[in-house]
Amino acid sequence: WSVHKFGGTCVGTSERIKNVAEVIVNDGSDGKLVVVSAMSKVTDMMYDLIYKAQSRDDSYIAAADAVFEKHRLTATDLLDGEDLASFLAQLHDDVNNLKAMLHAIYIAGHATESFSDFIVGHGELWSAQMLSYVSGLDCKWMDTREVLIVNPTSSNQVDPDFVESEKRLEEWFSRNPCKTIVATGFVASTPQNIPTTLKRDGSDFSAAIMGALLRARQVTIWTDVNGVYSADPRKVSEAVILRTLSYQEAWEMSYFGANVLHPRTIIPVMRYDIPIMIRNIFNLASPGTMICQPSMNVSEDDQKLDSPVKGFATIDNVALVNVEGTGMAGVPGTASAIFSAVKDVGANVIMISQASSEHSVCFAVPEKEVKAVAEVLQSRFRQALDAGRLSQVAIVPNCSILAAVGQKMASTPGVSATLFNALAKASINVRAIAQGCSEYNITVVVKREDCIRALRAVHSRFYLS
Ligand code: ADP
Ligand code: ASP
Repeated sequence: WSVHKFGGTCVGTSERIKNVAEVIVNDGSDGKLVVVSAMSKVTDMMYDLIYKAQSRDDSYIAAADAVFEKHRLTATDLLDGEDLASFLAQLHDDVNNLKAMLHAIYIAGHATESFSDFIVGHGELWSAQMLSYVSGLDCKWMDTREVLIVNPTSSNQVDPDFVESEKRLEEWFSRNPCKTIVATGFVASTPQNIPTTLKRDGSDFSAAIMGALLRARQVTIWTDVNGVYSADPRKVSEAVILRTLSYQEAWEMSYFGANVLHPRTIIPVMRYDIPIMIRNIFNLASPGTMICQPSMNVSEDDQKLDSPVKGFATIDNVALVNVEGTGMAGVPGTASAIFSAVKDVGANVIMISQASSEHSVCFAVPEKEVKAVAEVLQSRFRQALDAGRLSQVAIVPNCSILAAVGQKMASTPGVSATLFNALAKASINVRAIAQGCSEYNITVVVKREDCIRALRAVHSRFYLS
């Protein structure tokens, strides 16, 4: 099997959906499973419907009509005859049902998570069905909610149940024997068969899970750039394309903001050594980036680059939290108490840095979560603060994280010196630093307004000098 995933931009118009069909037809593999995202912007539109209904704003009705119209126009361009008629009948029924659900949300002023997940997943149902009707594909379409079973985790993510999903996939095949499948990304079900999602941008993860379930030969993620670059090409015009990346490097790059790939995509494929290709649907001549085990991972192009840092990535809208006090040193359990409190408010800790004096712990969280974090820490450590064992819980808002990633960093002395020298020369003030023991990344926190300048400064130091 080969697995392909097409993102929202790839299926953003009827013309683009035709291109996607062509790419699938031209893949000579025996079995092909194609995972698609919703058309671009559609998931945002779906979340907005819920937001409007919840806020008792009755413009949700007109907004639902706009979603209907977008898909009706695309389908009318793309399909004809009976295929068009059956797609439009389904779309019509779906939108009517959604309007009934949104009306209930409008009255209640609230939507449960499973209600929301059911609604937002329709974007993928429609794009997959439209693609599956395109003539010449000779395929079956799969509603992955019938196959993919996931359990919620405490960190507001989901974990696939591979055993149950494999069983359901076999059952699906016995009902639908075929060699080409067009499947919905993003959506899944709980073990109780309640519709859920793999969370925002989760279609890459869907493709990786399906790749693992099928023990696929390769998973190709099609997007709108030539592959993974040494930095986001929208921010650094001289960024170079990376021909190969190890799983670990790709994980670090995506974790720290290279949104060309969803970070969780790596986990299922790594288990079976399945390579991931990142390719550009708008430039088929470009070979793309291959993500695989380091041993398979030597491209001559990359060797020529010879930089110990392979890539840089950034996350904006981050706040730093600094918990400080002499009473922390040598007191077991302080870090545990801090991070339990953070977990209890559901905040996501992106990086941690602790001074070896144990006098302070500093960590970064998404800006939108920092208020809740500050409140819970103030209340849990009230006594320690009043008694002076802790001097402060300080918040530094408006920060960004800049990460340098590369597995050769571990064996190359002087990387951090070069990095900090480049930052110093550009007069960038570094607020916090962290380096994992694996030495695959060095992470620095800078002021939000300095971030692009910092990124360009370090990128040009490693790639142009
Ligand atoms: P899709 O809609 O296909 O899922 P996304 O828009 O989520 O794709 O991701 C592709 C975008 O990721 C690119 O347009 C690019 O600007 C951005 N990006 C960020 N960092 C990188 C990087 N290091 N290499 C390539 N693209 C990157
Ligand atoms: N459509 C979903 C989103 O926009 C999933 C995806 O595109 O990966 O989040």
